[in-house]
Amino acid sequence: MEMPRVDVPFLSLKAVNARHADELKAAAARVIDSGWYVLGEELAAFEAEFAAWCGVRHAIGVGNGLDALALLLRGYMELGRIAEGDEVIVPGNTFIASFLAITTNRLVPVPVEPDPASFNLDPARVEAAIGRRTRAIMAVHLYGQLADMPGLHTVAREHGLLLVEDAAQAHGAAWDGRRAGSLGDAAGFSFFPAKNLGALGDAGAVTTGDEALAQCVRALRNYGSEVKYQHRLRGTNSRLDELQAALLRVKLKYVEEDTRLRRRVAMRYLDGIRHPHIGLPFAMREEAHVWHLFVLRCRHREALQRHLAACGIQTQVHYPLPPHRQPAYAGRLTARLPLTERLHGEVLSLPIGPALADADVERVIAAVNAFRSPA
Ligand SMILES: *Cc1c(COP(=O)(O)O)cnc(C)c1O
Repeated sequence: MEMPRVDVPFLSLKAVNARHADELKAAAARVIDSGWYVLGEELAAFEAEFAAWCGVRHAIGVGNGLDALALLLRGYMELGRIAEGDEVIVPGNTFIASFLAITTNRLVPVPVEPDPASFNLDPARVEAAIGRRTRAIMAVHLYGQLADMPGLHTVAREHGLLLVEDAAQAHGAAWDGRRAGSLGDAAGFSFFPAKNLGALGDAGAVTTGDEALAQCVRALRNYGSEVKYQHRLRGTNSRLDELQAALLRVKLKYVEEDTRLRRRVAMRYLDGIRHPHIGLPFAMREEAHVWHLFVLRCRHREALQRHLAACGIQTQVHYPLPPHRQPAYAGRLTARLPLTERLHGEVLSLPIGPALADADVERVIAAVNAFRSPA
C-alpha cells in the first residue's frame, strides 16, 4: 500500500528551531570553544534563569524528564519523607514515565481516574484513594493544562501528603500568575525536543522551594557527591550538559511567545471545528493551559485518523494504551480504570506548535469538518 504524503506534519522540530538557528549555533559555538562541557557556567546560568522564570527558589538540571521525577522522589526517600513500598497517587491516564519514576524507586503507583472534562486529577477521587501508606500525590499537567492544584493542595495538606508536579508538558502554565514548577512541593520538567521548552537532545530539571531536597537532588544527579570524590549517597549520573544548557537558555527567551502562538492555533481549532461526533478540549482559564497538545475525542478515532492521513494530515494518539495496561506492568498493576481506558481509545492529537502555518491550521479544520463518521 502506498503511504499518503504528509502535507501537514504533526510537529516539525526543524521548523521550530530554524526560527532561532543563528542564536542556537552561536550558543553551541560558545560551548565548543570553552572547552568545558559538563557542570559548568552554562548550566548554572540556565538553572538560575529557569528557577526565576518558574518563580521557584531552586532548579536542578538533570538528564531528562523521567530522571527529574525519579530523582525528586528518591530525594524525598533520602530525606526520610517516603519509604520503599509507600504509595504515590497518580492519574491513570498519563505517559508511562510518571509511573516509571515511582516504580523505579520501589514505590507503589496508585492510579486514579481523571476528571472526564479536563483529563486531569480530580481532588475528590484522589481523596477517596488515600490509604495508610499513601505519602504523595503526583499531579500531571496533562496536555499542557494545569491540574486543579488548589483542590489537590487542600487534600494534600489535610492528609499530610507531599504534592509533586509532573510538569513535563506544562512549561509556563499558570494559576493566578504562579507558574507550573512552583505550585507543589517539587516538580519534574522534561526538555525533550518536542516539549514546549525543548532542548536539541535529552534534558530535564527538578524545581523546588525546599533547600534540603534541592541539595539532595544536586548530589544524586552527580554520583551522590557534593565534594569531588566524596560520596554521601549512592547516586547516579544524570546531568544536563553544557551544550543543552546553552541551547535551552536561547529557547527560554521565546517560550512565552511560543505559548501565544500555540494558544492562537488552539483558539482557531476551537472556533473552526464543528462536528457532531467530535468532542473538543477546553481551557479552564487561558493562563492555565499552554497547549502542549490539542487533543480531541472521537468514538470513531481510527476512522478519523485514517481520513486525516488521506488528507495529508499527520496526527498522533496520546496515548494508545494506559500505563497499567502496558506489558511492562502485566500482573503488577491490577487497577480497573474504565474511564481511563475509554479515553485512551478515543483521544486524537491534531498538529499544533509554534511554527504551524495559518494555512495548515485552516486545512486541518476543513479536513476534520469534512469527516464522515461511520454509521
Ligand atoms: C515527556 C514526559 C515525561 C518524560 O520526559 P523525558 O524527558 O522524555 O524523559 C514525563 N511525563 C510526561 C507527562 C511527559 O510528557
